[in-house]
Amino acid sequence: MHQPTTQARPSIYYPYQVHAPWLASQHPAQGRHPVVIVGSGPSGMVTALELARHGVASVVLESELQVSQGSRAIVFTRRSLEILQQVGVAQRMVDNGLPWRFGNSYYRGQRVFRMEAPHDADDRFFPMLNIQQQYMEEYLLDACQAEPLVDFRWGNKVTQVAQDATGATLEVDTPEGPYQLHADWVVAADGGRSAIRAAFDLQMEGASYEGRFVIADIRIDLPLPTERLAFFDPDWNPGNTVLMHREPHGIWRVDYQLPENETPEDALQPAALATRINALLAQIGHGDKPWEMDWSSVYSARTLTLPDYRHGRVLFTGDAAHLLPIFGVRGANTAFQDAQSLGWHLAFAVKGIASAALVDNYSRERVGAAREIIEESGKSTRFMTPPTRGFRLLRDAVLSLSLSQEFVRPLYHWRTSRPHEYTQSALNSPGDDNALFKAGPAHGAPPQNIRLSANDYLLDHLGGGFDLLYFTEGAAMPEALQSVVNAARAKGVPLRVTAVGASAPVAGADQTLADADGHFRARYGVPASGAAYLLRPDQHVCARWLTLDATRLQAALNHALPQ
Ligand SMILES: Cc1cc2nc3c(=O)[nH]c(=O)nc-3n(C[C@H](O)[C@H](O)[C@H](O)COP(=O)(O)OP(=O)(O)OC[C@H]3O[C@@H](n4cnc5c(N)ncnc54)[C@H](O)[C@@H]3O)c2cc1C
Repeated sequence: MHQPTTQARPSIYYPYQVHAPWLASQHPAQGRHPVVIVGSGPSGMVTALELARHGVASVVLESELQVSQGSRAIVFTRRSLEILQQVGVAQRMVDNGLPWRFGNSYYRGQRVFRMEAPHDADDRFFPMLNIQQQYMEEYLLDACQAEPLVDFRWGNKVTQVAQDATGATLEVDTPEGPYQLHADWVVAADGGRSAIRAAFDLQMEGASYEGRFVIADIRIDLPLPTERLAFFDPDWNPGNTVLMHREPHGIWRVDYQLPENETPEDALQPAALATRINALLAQIGHGDKPWEMDWSSVYSARTLTLPDYRHGRVLFTGDAAHLLPIFGVRGANTAFQDAQSLGWHLAFAVKGIASAALVDNYSRERVGAAREIIEESGKSTRFMTPPTRGFRLLRDAVLSLSLSQEFVRPLYHWRTSRPHEYTQSALNSPGDDNALFKAGPAHGAPPQNIRLSANDYLLDHLGGGFDLLYFTEGAAMPEALQSVVNAARAKGVPLRVTAVGASAPVAGADQTLADADGHFRARYGVPASGAAYLLRPDQHVCARWLTLDATRLQAALNHALPQ
């Protein structure tokens, strides 16, 4: 019998709430469910909320009775905020988080590189926002609990999965014993140690790195701005790298590499932790400040992915699908992109708007994204923790040269999480004008946000289905185009038409956005009226035309929704 802990988890800043378990005896008999999601971390909850936005009900099974514990994700990217905006929690993140855009790298007491993440007036969200994962999960949980299409079950642990061609049967253990659940589709969002991945004996491919890091969250009052601090080869931790981040509630994340011969057990001894943290604080000139430990653990970098995120009727997402190093803040940020993608692909297959082949596209695209991240983050991991003598020599050469040579300093800047562009997606329209555009988001790119007026942005008006941006100074959408739109809707395709560039409502459009100074057109590379963009439900571009006609729109929709 599954007995999750009923004690609130310890924390010096986060008040854990212990929820009541969901017990089968207190509910009517179970029917078959279209989707069961295993795990209520960021990927499970965002998948559930995305499915709900597309009208698909899901059951979320969570083995624990409270949100996640200890030091986990703290840095969330702009694209993550844009995705969280779609599921209604971005404002709470912004209200309670700490935005930032600068990073500082120090070597031998000298700041050798200052990273500045791009941010312009068209961006609603900062490039990065720091907030602890516990809060983010709480906001997602509140959104799930307010959503009638999400059936959230605390204290329900999946112990077995069996599947056939049409669905799966799950064995679920609870504090009153087990019950069975039948589903057409199962989403495995059960984290890095995925029991579902293990049950099917699925192997991940990629690398694990030798270097190990202590991650500690401490409470301390430091008069420093919210900027990332990286120290290379400090005197108290020679040859190794140290990172610091400010978090809300007076907490700081300290992240330092273990000397080679030290075991994790030794490194986590209170005295060892205190010695290192005191040395770090002395190094930054705050050795006199009192501090208090919230949580510490040891972490090592891995760059692993399943080669396919679909295993029959089981779909993998988030850490269950891939394990990415924390440098570059990839885990949860990638999980959000997975979940947003999985949400619409699966919902459209469940609703019969496209065939189940659409779900294979989720796997293809997101495995491609993970492989790109693995390639990039392998480079940053090798810079932070050189795995061989050769890599160390190279890294040390960069460090030494950077004291005097400007040109090597950008090598400090490891690439942080950014949304993958589905440049080669099978859903991109082959017959459009993508190659003729001189600017604007291209095939597979996420959308370019546009500031429309104070506190009003393009992405506030898009999402939840396909979006057709039709550029016109006022002329109505041609009737033939309107017929294609209406026919798609009649088949159940959610498709919203946004006219861009007119001062009064445009006939045939669901909404009209003005563009008096032509800024919107310029950013989208649109030279004349009659041009258009088609965005998929995850807002990535799948077609764009300098001149749109009904045949081309129909072809793009057919292509994006394989039958
Ligand atoms: C120290 C550290 C720092 C990090 N920093 C960042 C960062 O700054 N930015 C970033 O983007 N990422 C960061 N990450 C990574 C991030 O925390 C994870 O990538 C993210 O939590 C993955 O989300 P998930 O939903 O896929 O899995 P998880 O969050 O692990 O959620 C899985 C859920 O499934 C549940 N579960 C497991 N097995 C079962 C079962 N059998 N039945 C039912 N439920 C089950 C678990 O209880 C859990 O709630 C960090 C991670 C660590 C450890």
